[in-house]
Formats: sequence, structure tokens, C-alpha cells
Amino acid sequence: MAERIELTFLGTGSAIPTVRRNHMAMLLKYKAENILVDCGEGTQRQFRKAGLNPCKVTKILITHWHGDHVFGLPGILQTLILNGYNRKLEIYGPRGTKEWIRKYFDVVGRGVEKLDIQIKEVRGRKSERGGEIVFDEGEYFVEAYEMDHDCPAIGYSFVVKEKKRMDVEKLKALNIPNSPLMARLAKGETVEINGKRADGKKLLYVEDARKISFVMDTRVCDNAVELSRNADLLVIESTYSKQESEELLEKRAHLSSVEAAGIAKKAKATALALVHLSQRYEGIPKVIRDEARGVFENVVVPEDLESIEL
Ligand SMILES: [Zn+2]
Ligand SMILES: [Zn+2]
Repeated sequence: MAERIELTFLGTGSAIPTVRRNHMAMLLKYKAENILVDCGEGTQRQFRKAGLNPCKVTKILITHWHGDHVFGLPGILQTLILNGYNRKLEIYGPRGTKEWIRKYFDVVGRGVEKLDIQIKEVRGRKSERGGEIVFDEGEYFVEAYEMDHDCPAIGYSFVVKEKKRMDVEKLKALNIPNSPLMARLAKGETVEINGKRADGKKLLYVEDARKISFVMDTRVCDNAVELSRNADLLVIESTYSKQESEELLEKRAHLSSVEAAGIAKKAKATALALVHLSQRYEGIPKVIRDEARGVFENVVVPEDLESIEL
């Protein structure tokens, strides 16, 4: 069985929070890794409401330095200090992130030197592997592409690589004692057990790669499609309804529901989650969902504190 990737939507609103939707923040949990994607104002309280602990965060990915995506950072850093957070905290964001973090540290004040923070600025330039590899932990990695907003902005994909696994049921049937033979079978070698030959290759199967992409504030751009190519889940901003004028969308540098769905379709994503809804759709998120469904079938509009497992 593949280890679960669990994504919790801590906040799904845009610039102005509403009763129903806090500012943007999502927590991606995979094994011991807890990656926070954006950290809008009030995010640490959203953690508590979701029954999650902000002190378990291992990495923070910042899409861009607009307030609705980052105003929660000073508060969460202060909580980490107060709780004696003692691991390394990795923070990734677009160019300018080091300077922004320094300014935010001025807000947090005393005690911040106790945190072991590593900051890396991400450009989102293409590489031979696709986008910029933000980090690679062997079994999984995060890649990034530059988006087209009105400030430096980055989209991220979290990818668990395809993996060879042993078929436990077939293995049990062979009734092998726990011996070094197991390791050889796991490498796909043929070994002799009790006078019989067992072919490791026949015990192995390939578990497909899994990918979750995050496209936050942007205009329509090729990089948004590249980033989310074949994603199992694309989480994308859909600030406005298609009813809004093109002028407004261009000026505000955001996506409409149908533009977001169009990116999912072009990228051949499997599922789509629309977030970052404008306050004007507070009572009618179905409008956004139904518009998107006209272009791309498999759409959800998650509420705050909902989770998706992959
Ligand atoms: Zn925003
Ligand atoms: Zn923005």
C-alpha cells in the first residue's frame, strides 16, 4: 500500500477573508514531512481548528509575498519560538524572500535567533527535469515554475516518484524465512529457496508516481500548464467567475473559473480543486464550480479545513 499524501485546506479565500473562508494556506503531509504552502493571516488558528499542530511543519513554500498569502508568518514563527521548535525550518519563496523574511523577523522580534531557519529563493526556471528542482529528498521532490502575477510568483508541484514494490501476498505464498534472500529478491534477482527457484522480478510491481500541483495567483500562462502536466490533483486559484470582464482579470492578474479549468484540461490533470475565491462568491461557490465543470469534469471547491487524500 502506498503511503498517503494528505492535503488539508487551512484557508481557501482570497484578499479579504470571510466567515467561510480564511486566507490561503494548505498543509501537505507525507510521512514525516509537513509542508505548508502559503501562510495567510490566522493560519495557525486554522491549524488548531483542523486538529493539526503548527510545530510539526518541516518546510514552508511561499508562492508570493502578497499579504493574503504571508501575513500569518510572524505569528506562526512566534509560536514556534514559544514552543521550543528545535528542528531546521526550510522556507522557500520567490526572489526577494530573504529580504521579506528579514522584515518579518523585525516584527517577531526577540527570540527569532533561536530558530534554525534555512531560506532558499526560487526562480522557477526550466531545467532538464522540467521546472526548477526546489529540493529532492530521494523518494519525493518539489519542482517550481515562475508564474505571471504582478510581483515575483512561483507555482510548486509535489511529486512522489514511481517506486518498485514487493507484492506482499505473493511473497507470503513462497513462505521464505526472513533471510538475506529477501533483499536479493527485492532487487529483482532470482534466488533458490528450498530447492526451488524464485524470480524476484515476478514479485515486484511498479507503484505510479503521484503529483499535486499548486498554482496560486497568476494570469493564464504556459508555465501554469507545464507545472501541472499530468498532475493527479491540481490546486489552482479561481478568484473570479467567468462573468467578470477580461479587463478586470488582466488588471488584477488572476484567473477566472473557466481559465483555471482550461489549464487543468490542457495539462491533462486528473482532478481539480479551485481555491482563492473572491469574497463575492461567499454564498455561491457552486457558480464557480459549475462554470469550471463546463470545461473540466472532475472539479471540487473545497471549504476551509477539508482534506483530500491521494
Ligand atoms: Zn492572493
Ligand atoms: Zn497575489
